[in-house]
Amino acid sequence: MSPDYSAILAAIASEVAPLTREGKVADYIPSLAEVPLEQFGMAVVTLDGRRYSVGAADQRFSIQSISKLFALTLAFRQLGDELWERVGREPSGNPFNSLVQLEHESGKPRNPFINAGALAVTDVLCRHSVNAELAVLHFLRRLSGADDVQFDHAVASSEAQTGHRNAAMAHFMKSFGRIVSPVDELLNSYFHQCSIAMSCEELATAALFLANRGVVPATGERLLTASEAKRISAVLLTCGTYDAAGDFAYRVGLPAKSGVGGGIVAVVPGELAVCVWSPGLDANGNSLAGGMALERFTTLAGNSIF
Ligand code: GLN
Repeated sequence: MSPDYSAILAAIASEVAPLTREGKVADYIPSLAEVPLEQFGMAVVTLDGRRYSVGAADQRFSIQSISKLFALTLAFRQLGDELWERVGREPSGNPFNSLVQLEHESGKPRNPFINAGALAVTDVLCRHSVNAELAVLHFLRRLSGADDVQFDHAVASSEAQTGHRNAAMAHFMKSFGRIVSPVDELLNSYFHQCSIAMSCEELATAALFLANRGVVPATGERLLTASEAKRISAVLLTCGTYDAAGDFAYRVGLPAKSGVGGGIVAVVPGELAVCVWSPGLDANGNSLAGGMALERFTTLAGNSIF
């Protein structure tokens, strides 16, 4: 019998409510610093089309690094295994915006879910599409079924003005010959992808193909082979929540991708996708209440991958 997801989500929302007051919004991007702290939403979408939600699950927020999952899917579709010549697939054990490993590893980022790796992936998209950020936006509209999903241009320009670390990373990788596109074009595309605003319901729907061995359940469209979907899910599990990925695997036990907007999307292979949002972040840049909500979710529903 399927777990009672409505009851589980309601219990989680009340359990984690005190945590939504803690944590810190991502103030290094000025327009994200303005997002009120005490907010929480969570949505579950099953492969057979059932939907459950609690709190502000329909409220759009800045998806930030969650975009890296969808950009990677597009680039993997374009390059296949050749992609791994440009970006690795090992956990970094370092913060998502760290530069230190790049020097030691000749400009090849450890994985596609840290910023350096996402810049390498965006570089692939810039070379294979007319407009890389529009390719990601249209992909997300198609997957979520929400045609009005948009960039938040204020967030993108706020990050462009303050994103010196990302600019440094892009130039540094280019100095190793690992970036082909002009750095300004690359950064503009990356910041726009990160600025896309979506709700928990939309993101959970968009991630369903990963839970479904690469096929979008609503349309039957195959985006990835079952083997490719398995591989992306593996990299999500080991690298999707930055240097807290080990702790997430221990506590939650699901492939998951977080973003500094406070969202986390996760998949239960063969069953469902779940997305949680609460803007207060922990020291690693993952949503504090969101991480706890997912930990409680897999505990109460008994459905982690382990
Ligand atoms: N746009 C953010 C950055 O590049 C994304 C980081 C994140 O969500 N971890 O810093």
